[in-house]
Amino acid sequence: MQLFSYLEKYDYEQVVFCHDEASGLKAIIAIHDTTLGPALGGCRMWTYQSEDEAILDALRLARGMTYKAAAAGLNLGGGKTVVIGNPRTDKSEAMFRALGRYIQSLNGRYITAEDVGTNVQDMDMIHMETDYVTGVSQAYGSSGNPSPMTAYGVFRGIQATANVALGSPDLAGRTVAVQGLGSVGYSLAEQLRAAGANLIVTDINEDQLRRAASELGARVVAPAEIFDVECDIFAPCALGAVINDDTVERLRCKAVAGSANNQLAEERHGDRLHERGILYAPDYVINAGGLINVADELEGYNADRARKKVEGIYDIMLEIYNIAEREGIPTYRAADHMAEARIEQMRRVRGTFVRNEKSALHR
Ligand code: NAD
Repeated sequence: MQLFSYLEKYDYEQVVFCHDEASGLKAIIAIHDTTLGPALGGCRMWTYQSEDEAILDALRLARGMTYKAAAAGLNLGGGKTVVIGNPRTDKSEAMFRALGRYIQSLNGRYITAEDVGTNVQDMDMIHMETDYVTGVSQAYGSSGNPSPMTAYGVFRGIQATANVALGSPDLAGRTVAVQGLGSVGYSLAEQLRAAGANLIVTDINEDQLRRAASELGARVVAPAEIFDVECDIFAPCALGAVINDDTVERLRCKAVAGSANNQLAEERHGDRLHERGILYAPDYVINAGGLINVADELEGYNADRARKKVEGIYDIMLEIYNIAEREGIPTYRAADHMAEARIEQMRRVRGTFVRNEKSALHR
């Protein structure tokens, strides 16, 4: 790949290639932008088919984190680590400690966390070498499982979405179709039910479906049917790319608002939702509760304070819908604009400070 052309195109700051022969570590730390603060982003371990694929994944995910943190109002930038290897067979203490030393060498420009293929134990090993890690064992003051906070943020985002798409944030009597009843989806379904919503649910796990039917009075449909049901809000909480050529014309809802990452197969599917008058809650904003929660660890974790910040997803969503309305653009673009505007503003503020400091030196 033309690495530097890519870095130039999307304005990346730094890429670190980490190699440790003794432990077999092969990792890439990508730092996209630290204008707002240190780059925070998880450490993914995966059996990549090629080195190019691993590099591209690190770069793409790091940039995504810049937007996510900026839109969530956090003073953090975007970064990501990918470790090349099989998370089932290739892990060792030596490998994660070697990675920890690389992270330490960045002096806080990058802070890592759990991601696909890594877990709390891995973060504890990284923590032996550096403090620039979140999501370590709760004994060290970590925030624990992020899913309940993610679900709470999605619930708040759905209330904001209902306010705009349905004229009121009150979900009593509204119908929400939830795809995927995993860690986030089930907790979300419970909160929706408690708010008086009627639920239509699907999953590939029969046990979860039975549980939702008996505990939450949910109507169960087959996985392929969830796109066709008439509802107020469709909440994708399972897979990515669920809004695609096949499904976008089938949806019979007023809004799409759920936790899944990368819900739009392509940007044009966001344009199509806009044309169809279906309000789309940008995924990386509505699902930022977990990130907001883990970021609170950097100030000494306080669950109440974190929850209060996650609650603010309601106002952030309203702001995005306002921008979309004002500029006549789809909401996924409005979210990007909002994130970019915040970064640009802070870049200018910082620039002013640097200029003032320099001129003070010359006085
Ligand atoms: P999970 O693995 O706990 O749950 C996913 C659920 O979806 C499972 O119950 C699974 O059986 C179901 N599922 C899989 N394929 C399906 C299909 N074809 N149709 C219907 N159901 C299907 O994952 P999770 O942690 O709840 O995360 C859900 C989504 O939210 C993912 O896209 C994830 O990336 C995203 N997300 C999660 C968090 C978090 O804090 N956990 C944060 C941000 C984003």
